Amino acid sequence: SVLGTLEAMLDGIWDMDKERLSSCYDEIIRIKRLIGSIEDLSKVENDNVLLHKESFDLSKLLRTLLSNFESEFVTKNISVDYNQQPIYLYADQDKISQVFRNLISNAIKYSDNGGKVHIHITEYPENVEIRIKDSGIGMSDADLPHIFERFYRADKSRNRETGGVGIGLTITKAIIEAHDGTIDARSKLGEGTEFMIVLPKKRTHI
Ligand code: ADP
Repeated sequence: SVLGTLEAMLDGIWDMDKERLSSCYDEIIRIKRLIGSIEDLSKVENDNVLLHKESFDLSKLLRTLLSNFESEFVTKNISVDYNQQPIYLYADQDKISQVFRNLISNAIKYSDNGGKVHIHITEYPENVEIRIKDSGIGMSDADLPHIFERFYRADKSRNRETGGVGIGLTITKAIIEAHDGTIDARSKLGEGTEFMIVLPKKRTHI
């Protein structure tokens, strides 16, 4: 559509007005975002994905991420409840950070004003379980099994405004699995969504 619009304007068939130019601009921004996401996906889906593991405090990472999202929480008047406690993981901090950025950003994106987000960490001897629960718009039983697939976006009509490309959860799952962890979701339309992640805490010795 960008090509057709630009051609028609260059050929003098259509006026080069601000409305047409700005719709081309919006499309190009969308394509740019899509290419960026595909690059991120191909990086994590490569079987030889290199994890730069180090020991770090997961709860500190989550606190930093929550403060980075503070203005979005405030704008939508979303309250956050987080049972923070120090938990050390041996993992790729940048990639784990991307996982929680995706999940927190979705929790905000798919919540109405005045919603609630709960982040709950539970420590087990070998693993840590993190639950991120929102009181947002939720998903139908038909959509839920597909949300980790590439480019899948539940209910496209309601999603048009939110601007994603349907790749964030695919990347999230690939990162968790590269760390030998698991991610699951449950959701109810109109009530909210919960993501459950389990990650091994320590370096595994072979
Ligand atoms: P997107 O870029 O579309 O947000 P994702 O891969 O992150 O892509 O998510 C895939 C789809 O799953 C989204 O389009 C949305 O329909 C649904 N989804 C993800 N997280 C949530 C959530 N917290 N609440 C409701 N729907 C969600």
